[in-house]
Amino acid sequence: MSRPIDGHLARKRFGQNFLVDQNIIRKIIAAIAVKPGEPIVEIGPGLGALTAPLINAAGHLHVVEIDRDLIARLKEKYSAEQITIHEGDALKFDFGTLTQNAAGALKVVGNLPYNISTPLLFHLADYAAGVKEMTFMLQREVVDRMVADPDEEAYGRLGVMLQYRFHMAKLFDVPPGAFHPAPKVTSAIVRLIPKAASELDCRDEALLAKIVTAAFGQRRKTLRNTLKGILDDAGFTTLGINPGARGETLSLADFVRIANFCAVPA
Ligand code: SAM
Repeated sequence: MSRPIDGHLARKRFGQNFLVDQNIIRKIIAAIAVKPGEPIVEIGPGLGALTAPLINAAGHLHVVEIDRDLIARLKEKYSAEQITIHEGDALKFDFGTLTQNAAGALKVVGNLPYNISTPLLFHLADYAAGVKEMTFMLQREVVDRMVADPDEEAYGRLGVMLQYRFHMAKLFDVPPGAFHPAPKVTSAIVRLIPKAASELDCRDEALLAKIVTAAFGQRRKTLRNTLKGILDDAGFTTLGINPGARGETLSLADFVRIANFCAVPA
């Protein structure tokens, strides 16, 4: 078991690895670049490594935290003018309560608990229209998958589905030694900027998700096999897509073309 930090024993089940490297903390705060009065929410404030400088910069911060002990500390440390604490699971949190008052300007940030990072990204995608920008710390391997291009090993469902909703960029790596306790893997900071409504050109997103899931479900198989029942040979010909190719060769635009082709006409 690792030693306590600030009298708190890190809880594994809540993915608790606390940032302790002041240089990295400064770099993350600079990347977030929050301005006074900007609406901003931090997911998983923990012991407050990012919370304190974010409150200093923004004046007020919303936080979503699941650990009651950490919530009690935050309540002691900060006034209601400085912080609004939303107690509970970020996966179930209705971010609409924040986006509805933010006029598309909400910033979302966090050193995310790695055990829930993928479902949390998909949960947040539902609120993208009200968000200006998201800056997260994630496992580097997950960030690599998010920003991967076709034919790269890391390219797959996660990347395609998030790239449909967001412009994304990896900013910098963070080594395990920047945390207590140190995780086993390297982390990275990633920025997500929601795409404008005019860029979201898929008529049926649920169908897009179904097609992408099928195409990457069995990576070694050809599209003719993985998309059986969704797209027939005539469809492949019309779209100019080789049915003998594999899913990993298709771009996001190709997947959107397939979905729009298969979608029931409006
Ligand atoms: N932000 C702090 C830092 O950088 O030192 C803590 C980061 S730690 C990796 C993840 C934080 O998310 C912890 O405070 C943990 O209690 C919280 N957390 C874990 N699961 C959560 C969930 N489902 N909803 C909200 N917060 C959660």
